[in-house]
Order: sequence, then structure tokens, then C-alpha cells
Amino acid sequence: MKVMAQVAMVMNLDKCIGCHTCSVTCKQTWTNRPGTEYVWFNNVETKPGTGYPRRYEDQDRWKGGWTLNRRGRLRLRSGGRVRKLLTLFYNPELPALDDFYEPWTYDYRSLTTAPLSDRFTSARPKSQLTGRDMRPVHGPNWDDDLAGAQDHARSDPNLKDLGERVRLEFEHTFMFYLPRICEHCLNPSCVASCPSGAMYKREEDGIVLVDEDRCRGWRMCVSGCPYKKVYFNHRTGKAEKCTFCYPRIEAGQPTICSETCVGRLRHLGVLLYDADAVLHAASVPDEKDLYEAQLSVFLDPDEPWVREAAARDGVPPDWIEAARRSPVYDLVERHRVALPLHPEYRTLPMVWYVPPLSPVADAVHTTGHHDDDPDRIFAAIDELRIPVEYLANLFTAGDTAVVEGVLRKLTALRAHMRARQLGDPTSAALLERAGASAA
Ligand code: SF4
Ligand code: SF4
Repeated sequence: MKVMAQVAMVMNLDKCIGCHTCSVTCKQTWTNRPGTEYVWFNNVETKPGTGYPRRYEDQDRWKGGWTLNRRGRLRLRSGGRVRKLLTLFYNPELPALDDFYEPWTYDYRSLTTAPLSDRFTSARPKSQLTGRDMRPVHGPNWDDDLAGAQDHARSDPNLKDLGERVRLEFEHTFMFYLPRICEHCLNPSCVASCPSGAMYKREEDGIVLVDEDRCRGWRMCVSGCPYKKVYFNHRTGKAEKCTFCYPRIEAGQPTICSETCVGRLRHLGVLLYDADAVLHAASVPDEKDLYEAQLSVFLDPDEPWVREAAARDGVPPDWIEAARRSPVYDLVERHRVALPLHPEYRTLPMVWYVPPLSPVADAVHTTGHHDDDPDRIFAAIDELRIPVEYLANLFTAGDTAVVEGVLRKLTALRAHMRARQLGDPTSAALLERAGASAA
């Protein structure tokens, strides 16, 4: 066993309002430079939705996933001619600029100097349609308006009735915001795919970085990262990615996205893990076992033997202490309410998400905070809009039982807190039955 420390982040999706403050402060800090106009180390995308870059989750190229469609659409703006040709030959599965979006600059003078008009604006994102290639317009937040509702309506036999269709579309609207940064994976495929040895994972804190002096612009890391969180700077010819604000972390400060998050939904912390168990966890045969396998590598920092082993393996005392004080281990492992994004990618991502609960909260309202039966509270989920299968595809490789368990705990905890505020002592039983604890 080799004990190592890893910085990690938990985001509570119920609290994200999609304001993009995190994206803007990150951009001002890290990618406010020529060649990175399209780059958002932190992006906030609407879910269900196409994502950033477009359809990055659609990875099965033999079933029409985006990688197959990108052939011949590459834009290689830098690098010598030979390297461009070689990159095309060896690495044809790069997202093109159109797959992110075309950046633009607002002309703020227009706010005050535009002539008066009696027409309403009908803004559409700049279309990437050319000729007969009739793919729809897109953007990371273009799906806000109807979100998953359209699928509901399409699959409903009442579709023929326009009024019914409109009603269904709006009644079943479900959307949430998913903020994304690099996952600083325990098993990073970007590092494994770099032929120059430029991508590396820091021993001391697990942050994944690019050594720009060694980067030769092959872009294997771009195609190798399943989360598409490595970007290519076409001015410098180098790969760039989220740095987890390592200069701030080294100075004991939070990442800029965490510090400026309006919803205060980002929890930073340190996890202690067994480095020798990582490859085994990443290679369990059944995808549905990956979530459990990922959890199995973490070690309880409250156990004296874990702290001793960490000290023996060179983890600094202040990092061991940070792991003890961190909320991340509690949320990920102890209470199991935070889930990894797409564990089936097998990179063991280190950004965790508490799934959104909002429509279930309605159930608590309708059934009453005093209801001591979480099953009854949770039974209302079927009549609500929350698509458990969709969340399971995002967070547990399709295991709906795990997602339901998390939603049940969160529902019970919310009812408990509400009851406690009202001085109702019976709510503790509700927590117990949902498998959660007041701590
Ligand atoms: Fe590498 Fe992508 Fe994982 Fe980040 S999310 S560590 S870029 S594989
Ligand atoms: Fe969501 Fe916070 Fe980013 Fe706003 S700043 S979009 S609330 S993560």
C-alpha cells in the first residue's frame, strides 16, 4: 500500500444558478490571452443538453458518436506542415472549433448608441450550418428553454394533440446546471496518451498539469481526455488545461472558481488514497461496479493507522490534517451523497457532484415535514420530473439504485432540517430510515 494525497472538489448541484461567475473569474485569471478565446477551463453547461464541446459525452464512435463525424473537419491552425499532416493521420478525432463555439466580442458601445427600433430582437446563436449539413444550432446553455421536456413529449402518444404536447413539454421540463473543470483524475488518460511526456500528475497533491516546454502540440491529450478538458492554444501550439489554481492552493487559498462561486456550492478538500489500488479500481469488468470500486481506494483520515501510513509515505502533516478537516471525505465516502461524473470513463475523476434534488423537494412540501416515512416522501418521485435514469447515466454508469439512495438521503435530510427548525424531534427517525445521519 502506498498512501498519497489528492485535492478534490465536491459541487452541490442544487445550488448552482448558472450565473457563470466561476467561468468568468477563471477566464480572467487563466485564459484571457490570444489563442484561448474559445477556452473555458471552467464551463457551466445545461443538462440535459449538448454540453461543451458539443456532444462530448457521446463517445461511441461506432454508433455515430461525435468522434466519427469529425473526420475531415479539423482546423489545424499552427504547427509545421509535416506535423499537421502527421497529426491528421494519427489523431483524427479532435474536436473542431465549431464544436466548442465561435467566440465573439461584445461591442458595449451598442448598448447606448444603437438606434431605436420598433422590432424585437430574435437572437440565434451563430449557426454552424453549411450547405446541406443541417445539424441544429447549439451551445452549452442552448438547452435551457425546454431541457429534457421535449423528449418526454416526443415519446408520448398524445403528441398529435398540440395543446397536450405543449402542456407535456412544460410540465415535464427538467434542467439543471453542471459546472465542469478538469477532473484531475486518479488515472488520467491525458497523461497516458501524451507521447512527449508533457502531461503529468503532481505527486504531492494530484493536480494534473502540462509542461509547456515539453509539449510538442500533438494534441493526443485532447482526444485522449474523455471529458474534453484539455484545450489547444492555436497561437502557441501548446496544450492548456485547468490547473486547479495550483499557485493559490500552494498559498493556502481556494481555487478562484470556489472563492467566487455565488451559490457557495464548491467544497474543496483533500482525500487520502491507496495509490496501489488505483489501477485495479479502474479496471473492474462491470461498469456498474466502478462507483464502488472508486470509493474503495479512499482511506479514512480519522483512522490512526491511515495517518501513520500517510506520514510513512511522505504525505506532509498539514495535508493529513487537511484531509481530516475536509468535508470531501464525508460527502464522498462517509455519507455517500456525492457522485463522480461518468465513472464509466475509468479515469477515476476527482470532482464529485451532489445530484440535484429540487423537484423532490416539492414532494417534501406536499407530504409535509412531519411525515416520518421516507418511502412515502420518496414515492412521489414518480409523479415528479426528476429523471433518475438520466442522473444515473451521468453519475453511476446507469445504476439507478445508487442515485435513488442519494436522493432519498437528501430528501430525508432536508425534511429533518425543516422539522428541526420547527422544533419537531421525530424527524431523526426519518433520517435513520433513509440511511443518513444528522452529522
Ligand atoms: Fe486529464 Fe481529462 Fe482527467 Fe483532466 S479530466 S485529468 S484532462 S483525463
Ligand atoms: Fe454555479 Fe457558482 Fe458557477 Fe454561479 S458561480 S454558475 S452558482 S458554480
